[in-house]
Amino acid sequence: MTEQLKINPCTKVDPLYFMFKAKELILKERERQNQKWGEQNHSPQDWMMILQEEIGEFARAEMEHRYRGADPEPIMEELVQVAAVAMQMVECGLRNGWGGK
Ligand SMILES: [Mg+2]
Repeated sequence: MTEQLKINPCTKVDPLYFMFKAKELILKERERQNQKWGEQNHSPQDWMMILQEEIGEFARAEMEHRYRGADPEPIMEELVQVAAVAMQMVECGLRNGWGGK
């Protein structure tokens, strides 16, 4: 385990880089979603269906890569969409009194 950590290329980069890069990708996707759909105010149940649909696309991209040798890039694209939808759910919840203020 320790040996793996020593050769992990992620340890050669400031851990904050990945946090900021993830944030950048998610915010870019959020902007794309806002341009496409505008402000979305759904019930928690409807949001769960939307999120599950995105999780399904993420799972499909992973399976296509793992078992059919497809390009791995869609895995990250779909994962970012999952995170962006989850973020949008939080925004909706804040607007509509689900707590968090
Ligand atoms: Mg998707």
